[in-house]
Amino acid sequence: MSRRGTCAPLPVRFKDWHAIVNYNEAMKRIVAIDIGGTHLRAALFEGENTKPVFHQIVDTRSSEPGVFDRLVGVVESVWPKDGKVEAIGAASPGPLDPYSGTILRTPNIQEWVNFPLSPNLTKHFNVPVFLNNDAKLAGLGEWKFGAGRGYHDLLYLTVSTGVGGGVIANDRLVQGFHGMATELGHTTVDSNGPVCSCGFPGHLEAFASGPSIVKYVNQELASGAKSSLQPNPGLTPRAVADAAKSGDALALEAYGRAGEYLGIAVASFLHTFDPAIVIFGGGVSQVGALLFDPFHASLLKRVFHPRYLENLKIEMAALGDDAGLLGALAFAEISLSELPDQELQDRTHG
Ligand SMILES: [Zn+2]
Repeated sequence: MSRRGTCAPLPVRFKDWHAIVNYNEAMKRIVAIDIGGTHLRAALFEGENTKPVFHQIVDTRSSEPGVFDRLVGVVESVWPKDGKVEAIGAASPGPLDPYSGTILRTPNIQEWVNFPLSPNLTKHFNVPVFLNNDAKLAGLGEWKFGAGRGYHDLLYLTVSTGVGGGVIANDRLVQGFHGMATELGHTTVDSNGPVCSCGFPGHLEAFASGPSIVKYVNQELASGAKSSLQPNPGLTPRAVADAAKSGDALALEAYGRAGEYLGIAVASFLHTFDPAIVIFGGGVSQVGALLFDPFHASLLKRVFHPRYLENLKIEMAALGDDAGLLGALAFAEISLSELPDQELQDRTHG
């Protein structure tokens, strides 16, 4: 628990307070959507239950055109028969505008450029739709339901095919003026570094994502580095990790380099956000000491005052593949509770 988590609980005035809340909450239904590069997922949640009543997955890409139509289909497949749903929460890769519910551009869905996703879904389903960046929502999900419960200041980093982030500051999701804050993977850590998937040089993602680790190994092999690995465009981060665990020097160096740059970035994130907990999600984070030993060494060298590290927790994410869906659920719940009634009416009717 963070230091503010130790304050006295609020006084409970009614003996059956929990029963009243549970009764009212029981009927609340939210559909959560997770738009991924390979899969579209939708789940119906009821009341306070974080286990979905229905859950469906379809492929994002298909021989048939129309990702939006497939998304509508998967949402309809979890929609309750009586039609009563209060809101849709949606997690998507960015960049996007959460205030207008517009996808600006998203990897793997070429047809969605400046695509008004929330208005289109509202038109179809007649409920408010709350869209946000998938990594931000995974952070929100961990804060509400996962490894970050009880903390007021949290930083979440997913290290996977890309590197994404989310920050909770003083119990609120950091959104920014355009709603595009905390793109932590696109932090410049070396202005002369390799080109990132976004096209700009030296971003954290260009050092620490799974494809970046593989790319580095292939480049070094092509320049004659000795290794048990062979040059191979189909090489996976897992194969590199396996080689590293067998003592392969190049594979160890590839993860060491990723951990080093992760430490450079996280030191800056501590200076900027001063979180109580840093949570790591994503597949690359699962390799353990290969990444985190060099990460810790790099972090300790770069934090400019030891105070940032006092009682700082560094934990692994708890929600796994469900982080996006549960984050979308949390975002819809929070957004519903904060919207003025008139705006809620407007959003419900497009
Ligand atoms: Zn980038």
